[in-house]
Amino acid sequence: MANKNIIAIDGPAGAGKGTLTKRLCDYYGFAGLDTGSLYRAITLCMIEKKHDMDNINLEFAINLTRELSDTHKILDYARNPQIRSQLTNKYVASVAKIPEIRAIMREYQISFGENPPALEDGRPAKGAIIEGRDIGTVICPNAPIKFFITASPETRASRRLKQYLDQGESASYQEVLASIIARDEADRTRATSPMKQADDAILIDTSLNNKEETFQFAKRIIDEKLKITLV
Ligand code: C5P
Repeated sequence: MANKNIIAIDGPAGAGKGTLTKRLCDYYGFAGLDTGSLYRAITLCMIEKKHDMDNINLEFAINLTRELSDTHKILDYARNPQIRSQLTNKYVASVAKIPEIRAIMREYQISFGENPPALEDGRPAKGAIIEGRDIGTVICPNAPIKFFITASPETRASRRLKQYLDQGESASYQEVLASIIARDEADRTRATSPMKQADDAILIDTSLNNKEETFQFAKRIIDEKLKITLV
């Protein structure tokens, strides 16, 4: 039977979706899918193939996405740390706005939610958490729990800057802030599946809460709504 324990987490870059997803997955024994990493993987592969990213050829991009998805090579790219480089950040929103690419990724994400893969230690997953921009609105509109995680652009830029410096990349706060604001705008205003809080999503602002408070808040809601036996 298709899995019904699905949690949708949406929100802008650097808001803390990934941290919350990992913590909840570890706690409840759920499988997590970072859908941003899929769009980043396609972007990185195009960059590696020296595609002209300022003039994306649609046919090339769509065929490549289909091939990466069919062969599951998309997951190898998604594990490459280069998906988080500033160059990938610069182009990912232009790739993610292509409707045909989103349609291929939609199938992939729906299938993950319905049949989440086993956990790393081999246990079957008790549910799925899918995080992105359009999960609660387009990919899993019937998910029983939806969160929209946000934080001020300044808070998110400081977090991203730290990430770059930890990765050994040089960056300035002003550049990172400008890039976050530009990507928010592109994600919010695109025609296909824009970033949007679903009407029934619960809003969490992580500039006001630390990681532990955010986790405890989400946990209270999940415990109320889903009956999950922890063993
Ligand atoms: O979440 P992350 O910042 O890694 O996502 C990278 C980019 O991928 C976003 O800025 C957005 O353009 C795109 N994305 C999307 N839909 C999703 C997840 C990510 O369009 N569900």
